[in-house]
Amino acid sequence: MALPYARSIAEEHLYMRLHPCVCGSVAGTGIRHGTGVIAQGLTSDHEFVCKGCGAERRFVFRLPGLTPQYDDMYGGPDPSQIIDAGEWRMVALDAMGRAQLLRRQSTGVRKIFGRGDQKPQLRRAFEEALASYQEMLKFIPPAADTIPDSAFFTENGRRIRAQEPYVAFERSFIEAMIDGVRSDLAADG
Ligand SMILES: [Zn+2]
Repeated sequence: MALPYARSIAEEHLYMRLHPCVCGSVAGTGIRHGTGVIAQGLTSDHEFVCKGCGAERRFVFRLPGLTPQYDDMYGGPDPSQIIDAGEWRMVALDAMGRAQLLRRQSTGVRKIFGRGDQKPQLRRAFEEALASYQEMLKFIPPAADTIPDSAFFTENGRRIRAQEPYVAFERSFIEAMIDGVRSDLAADG
């Protein structure tokens, strides 16, 4: 079977986060990581024991040959081959939810009790949301204004697509979301 192709280490880690154990946990202990060389590039092999149920878990990815320096968080201009448009929508929503929570915490009661500075976490959440919206745009062909069916290639992503409003996958809406997150980053990050 062809190995899943991850454009970057950040994408590998996000992929593993999106694929929890059957018990629901994503956390692991006894993490072992190895790399290998194959004709098409490098392999990256993660083995660990699930924190939730003790199951042995393993993910093996194919990576680009030389670690590319992307400006984007997860990859270059080409769309992901392992995380689909619906999943990126979910990652974006999740990151925005986290940002809202952190913002409330930093302005609310907890501040009085001297909770540590959460700015770096807030910035990280906004950056993840921004990157996820940008990943969604990469699936839209230049002349099109919405994400094509072929960009929903996981069961998870198709389920999210069915739950979300149609407009959530349109270029103009995604671009508006990007503008919004950029303003948040400028104001809060
Ligand atoms: Zn488990």
